[in-house]
Amino acid sequence: MQIPWIDIRQQNAALRDEILPLWDEILTEAQFVGGKHLEAFEREFAAACGVPHCCAVSNGTDALRLIFHGLGVQPGDEIITVPNTFIATTEAIVQAGGSVVFVDVDPETYTMDPVALESAITPRTRGIVPVHLYGQTADMDPIIEIAQRHGLWVVEDAAQAHLAEYKGRRAGSMGIASAFSFYPGKNLGACGEAGAVATTSKELAERVRILRDHGQATKYYHEVNGYNNRCDALQTAALRVKLKYLPQWNERRRDVAAQYLNQLSGIDGLVLPTVHPDRLHVWHLFVVQLEDRDRVHEELKERGVSTSFHYPLPLHLQRAYIDLGCGRGSFPVTEAMAERLLTLPLFPEITKEEVSFVCDQLTDIVAGARV
Ligand SMILES: *Cc1c(COP(=O)(O)O)cnc(C)c1O
Repeated sequence: MQIPWIDIRQQNAALRDEILPLWDEILTEAQFVGGKHLEAFEREFAAACGVPHCCAVSNGTDALRLIFHGLGVQPGDEIITVPNTFIATTEAIVQAGGSVVFVDVDPETYTMDPVALESAITPRTRGIVPVHLYGQTADMDPIIEIAQRHGLWVVEDAAQAHLAEYKGRRAGSMGIASAFSFYPGKNLGACGEAGAVATTSKELAERVRILRDHGQATKYYHEVNGYNNRCDALQTAALRVKLKYLPQWNERRRDVAAQYLNQLSGIDGLVLPTVHPDRLHVWHLFVVQLEDRDRVHEELKERGVSTSFHYPLPLHLQRAYIDLGCGRGSFPVTEAMAERLLTLPLFPEITKEEVSFVCDQLTDIVAGARV
């Protein structure tokens, strides 16, 4: 057996006959930018997230940057986030002119530690960006309570958490705004690059709409210096088709995760992901922790199972952020995790037999190491 850690070909092959006629029509009408699918997708995705407003944009990184610009981030403004995320979260903060301040994560859920958050707040703090990592939301109630007490905004990085829930509330509906990515490998993936801003604020939605389209509300009349961050019609058409299947894909991801949790339970030296009872996980990634992770990764590869690392080097230790001056030892939970984590194969189309095979191989390798 050869099992990839992600396979997006099966999903796209299955939807070929639904997507191609829409693309054919777009090609015929040459309606590549804007158009009926943009408005419809924005309406449908807003409803799916439980917010009144959605703006489709060029990608998830730009979605974050447009939110920060829309909120009026100024040079010197400190924005607090976590170091165990994809770099897009902090790239967007820096691009908008803000200063990144990291806080460590909770060792159980790998999401922002509210206690660490409170102690990182200074008079220059403007906002907080929790990341709903691997498909599970951060602990939003204490984060929002701290934000309110200090007069700060909360922006959710929901790029890995389409339709995840926290105490019955959807990811992306709890902060002032949230950013989603539709990068092809995400739970809802475009056939190219795309992203979205979801927000409860009509004013912010309006600012993002203007910023994404060269700062104009009326063509050739520019209110502000904006960007070209629009989402193209081929993507919004494909995303509308895929959004219909997202609930069942997420359900299937939960089945796969349940099988892993069941078949891998009780193995000495293997730490399984924790699902907090308050939260509905959508399993963007299934990440375990173990000693000697690099060797296990290699041995699994030899047995036909590909795995990955999300993420191998925490952001505060990246060369790009050397000037932040956070050396090794700054965020011990994140640093310990980074050396031990391994992402197992998980996608909606993976079969029970394939998951069983992965479990058997992993069990064999981990047990063998202790003999
Ligand atoms: C994918 C991702 C992004 C960025 O999305 P792009 O569409 O690739 O720009 C931002 N944050 C997190 C946590 C992500 O996983």
